[in-house]
Amino acid sequence: MVLEIYPGDITALAVDAIVNAANERLLGGGGVDGAIHRAAGPELLEECRTLGGCPTGQAKATKGYRLPAKHVIHTVGPVWRGGGEGEPALLAGCYRNSLALARDLALRSIAFPAISTGVYGYPLAAATEVAVTTVREELATNPGDLQRVLFCVFGEDAKAAYEAALGMEGR
Ligand code: ADP
Repeated sequence: MVLEIYPGDITALAVDAIVNAANERLLGGGGVDGAIHRAAGPELLEECRTLGGCPTGQAKATKGYRLPAKHVIHTVGPVWRGGGEGEPALLAGCYRNSLALARDLALRSIAFPAISTGVYGYPLAAATEVAVTTVREELATNPGDLQRVLFCVFGEDAKAAYEAALGMEGR
């Protein structure tokens, strides 16, 4: 099992699934969500319309359409409200439930963006800690067919945060 940092645009990745930091409606949005819908084409939105939304902390899978990735796993991160509203557990749920779908689909590679750290305002270092810890725990207990997990970072701050979190975890 390899945990990697990939700096750049998640829509360019030819992995089995990229994860989308979506909102509960699953009908597109800004940030990474907008980039994924633009790159995947209108068929992605058509399939998303059939899903009936997604609660915060949960995840739902679609095909990747025009993306190099075969699937998109849409998950909804929590909006940061100071940390006392269950945000860490909800964010951990995003990673856990996305990996559960990856197992169900027998995926071998998956790439995550830094869920909730954009418009949703989750502090980067805290979010990164949740991401790395949760993924490591999940993979230790039930890796399925996964061989590669990529943390896709957009910008130097995110890259540094993931390097620190992976280092702290004794990589
Ligand atoms: P959220 O609403 O969950 O905060 P955002 O899309 O606003 O979602 O931001 C989540 C993270 O995704 C941020 O760290 C942002 O910098 C990053 N991001 C934005 N566009 C892309 C992209 N094309 N590829 C990878 N990461 C991206």
